[in-house]
Amino acid sequence: YTPELEPQATWCPGCGDFGVLKALKGAAQELGKSPEEMLLTTGIGCSGKLNSYFDSYGFHTIHGRSLPVARAAKLANPGVEVIAAGGDGDGYGIGGNHFMHTARENHDMTYIVFNNEIFGLTKGQTSPTSPKGHKSKTQPHGSAKEPLRPLSLSLTSGSSYIARTAAVNPNQAKEIIVEAMEHDGFAHIDFLTQCPTWNKDARQYVPYIDVNESDDYDFDPTDRREAADMMAETEQALHEGKVLTGRFYVDNDRPSYGEEKRAIGEMPEEPLAERYFDDSYEWERSADLFLDKHK
Ligand code: SF4
Repeated sequence: YTPELEPQATWCPGCGDFGVLKALKGAAQELGKSPEEMLLTTGIGCSGKLNSYFDSYGFHTIHGRSLPVARAAKLANPGVEVIAAGGDGDGYGIGGNHFMHTARENHDMTYIVFNNEIFGLTKGQTSPTSPKGHKSKTQPHGSAKEPLRPLSLSLTSGSSYIARTAAVNPNQAKEIIVEAMEHDGFAHIDFLTQCPTWNKDARQYVPYIDVNESDDYDFDPTDRREAADMMAETEQALHEGKVLTGRFYVDNDRPSYGEEKRAIGEMPEEPLAERYFDDSYEWERSADLFLDKHK
């Protein structure tokens, strides 16, 4: 996939972000989603440009805040297909708290994290997923810390679908995004994206292995313990230069946040986005009532 196929996109030639865009477009096409049925929220970073190139409703939020905006939109209008996206710094660093709690509450959406192991837009600083020893302008002697392990963090936080794919494999990436969009609950995709401009040593160039296809790996992604072991092995393998991808965890039984809230009567069955236009529901106009009362 090359920039020439997306003439309007301004990512650097060879950037992995093109692979995300291609896979996301392919998934939307395969599911027959029209632009007005989807919302894409993004954070700050090169990944944040995604909604400039993807034909849907879009909301380019502030740094690390694509998830809270996506949550609010999905709760107000459950019929919308909500996709949130951001980089590893945006999602696992600045927005890390939102990541944990959106996973814990199992909000129904797809979350794509462009993981290129650095901050790209701001010119290559060390990020939460930079490998130990990685040299950058902010860590010229090499990162002293072990990187964050996003798959394991996602599982312990409560995500109900967890996968890793890579921009070098857009076909697998498309299949995984399709599954994530169809999943009812929080679907987290750690999407390995090479940054040839600022992270020339990126390990994502290494040939990937699909753990669901390879005979070398035998685990059940619906078994939490087996998934946890496979994730730990996968994250250790990446540190050693071996790229394992695939679906790591799938829980189709757990209700989403919206489903639970509606089941106990804390949220109306009728979407808030539609009720707002019905004058009989005064509480939705509480701000107007407050202003009327105090004018
Ligand atoms: Fe892609 Fe890196 Fe260029 Fe950003 S700086 S567009 S992440 S190659």
